[in-house]
Amino acid sequence: MIRIDLHVHTLYSGDSNISPKMLIEQLNINPTVKAVAITDHDTIEGYRHVKKLAEAYEGLLVIPGVEVSTFEGHINVLGVEEMPKYPLSAEELIDFARERQAVVVIPHPYRVCGLGDNAKRLDVDAIETLNYRASKAENKLAERLARELNLPGVAGTDAHRPNQLFKVYTEVDADPDVNSILKAIRNGAVRIGSLKGYHV
Ligand SMILES: [Zn+2]
Ligand SMILES: [Zn+2]
Repeated sequence: MIRIDLHVHTLYSGDSNISPKMLIEQLNINPTVKAVAITDHDTIEGYRHVKKLAEAYEGLLVIPGVEVSTFEGHINVLGVEEMPKYPLSAEELIDFARERQAVVVIPHPYRVCGLGDNAKRLDVDAIETLNYRASKAENKLAERLARELNLPGVAGTDAHRPNQLFKVYTEVDADPDVNSILKAIRNGAVRIGSLKGYHV
């Protein structure tokens, strides 16, 4: 089992002040979370830097990803190291992801920039049912959506500030490698979790 923060922004997002170096240092000293998916807004530049820095440490895992702004709202794609062509619709992005065997997660469906009920007509792998920056009510609606669609629920902080990192995480029953983790998410071998003191 591995605990992963599946939704993190670095300063390459433009609206986050988390540097790749700070992110890796925080991950290294965190006793619980040892893996992170980099999901910057519309770029994978941050992932490349984080991945390179992680190589100097033992036991840290970095999953490539991106939070893509589609016409309908934000969609997280995990397991890609290239960008789609913009502008694009949610369906076009999902086709792009499917061609690359990537995992598609709907982040914060009921927060601003979320897909809302548009998610119901899309072929996705998981719903982010616990977003640290969303309200409890928004996360509850996301949970309901996951149940209705019979999809796994995952957690991510959506951190844009260092003190938001790793407060919530996804427990994945997988070996510590990217392909095994992506497969486990697709199969629903996941559970959401949070640090003591943060009530889901
Ligand atoms: Zn977003
Ligand atoms: Zn985000």
